[in-house]
Amino acid sequence: LNDLSPIATFISSNYNNPIPPTVFRKAANDLVEFLKTQWAWVYETLHNDDKSKGRIHYVVWSDVFICPSCTQDIIFFDSAFSKDTGKVQGEFHCPHCDTTLSKRTLEHATETYFDPILERSNKRNKQVPVLINYSVGGKRYEKAPTAQDCETLKKIDELLSREILSSHPMMHKGGEGWGAIWRAGYHFGITHTHHFYTPRNFLVLNKVWERCTLPQLRWAITSILNYVNKKQSFTGGGGGMPGVLYIASLVQEKNIIEVLERKIRSLLLAFDP
Ligand SMILES: [Zn+2]
Repeated sequence: LNDLSPIATFISSNYNNPIPPTVFRKAANDLVEFLKTQWAWVYETLHNDDKSKGRIHYVVWSDVFICPSCTQDIIFFDSAFSKDTGKVQGEFHCPHCDTTLSKRTLEHATETYFDPILERSNKRNKQVPVLINYSVGGKRYEKAPTAQDCETLKKIDELLSREILSSHPMMHKGGEGWGAIWRAGYHFGITHTHHFYTPRNFLVLNKVWERCTLPQLRWAITSILNYVNKKQSFTGGGGGMPGVLYIASLVQEKNIIEVLERKIRSLLLAFDP
């Protein structure tokens, strides 16, 4: 359990070291204000009027599989997700050759990419952004990502390669098969902690951590991690499946600023009812 000891000690020490609600409130408000002025742009998207800026609530990322019949790429969201039911269908059709498929029989499409944190090329399961849920003027909308959204992701990648951010090998060893709940398939290419995050959320989370020095506020941040990393699926419950590090084929990349604000609000209610 040496992998769990530091976080377990940190969490229990904070349960036992309460601070005045006013101190927590001030630090929390400062942090949210900092995020809103410096980092809100990473969660902005252009509305369909081509001028209003929308605030992203979440982005859905989809696995890509290879059709065993025609070997072409299948974007899981486009082929297997039913917008009518909000569920993944057990059987679906290849959009290229119409073969009937199920996820069990498919292999992940993989890709080689430059990992800006490890500063070397790496391989991973291919995931692509497929849906953006956002608000403009208090109204919710959905859209498919456009060239402008890809520009934002490119800017984030550039920033990540210029920053010095820390990531750790999984279970202090990395590589493949790093622990009892490592699984071939969905953990392909996941060797370090940052691989559990989208580049956008990894960048923002680092900014949050750097900015926040109050231990009780850092404790609050650790409680949102499973809601803002790739454990959070689009079709499953909040925080992903318990007891495993399962990454679904449809990942929901949530806006960290919003998740953090909600968490702070509920903690303040508990501290200072
Ligand atoms: Zn096919």
